[in-house]
Amino acid sequence: MFGLPTFPKLLIIAAIIAAVWYFMRRGQVARREQESGREQSGSAAKPGARPQKPIEDMVQCKSCGAYFPAKSSCSCGHSGN
Ligand SMILES: [Zn+2]
Repeated sequence: MFGLPTFPKLLIIAAIIAAVWYFMRRGQVARREQESGREQSGSAAKPGARPQKPIEDMVQCKSCGAYFPAKSSCSCGHSGN
């Protein structure tokens, strides 16, 4: 049984090694594709890439001195304009 390997035995061993190598390579490629896909979706979903809220012009209330958006009025009721 464990004598000199015959040609058919070598052929079977070579086929098994080739099959294992092939499936390992396939697994690596699939993993790489998953990682690259994750990277792409991750960069798209980056919190820093989110468009920031436009900064509103703040004006100081002449009545109470508090700052409020120029388009709205102060909480004390005093209007910016
Ligand atoms: Zn005010």
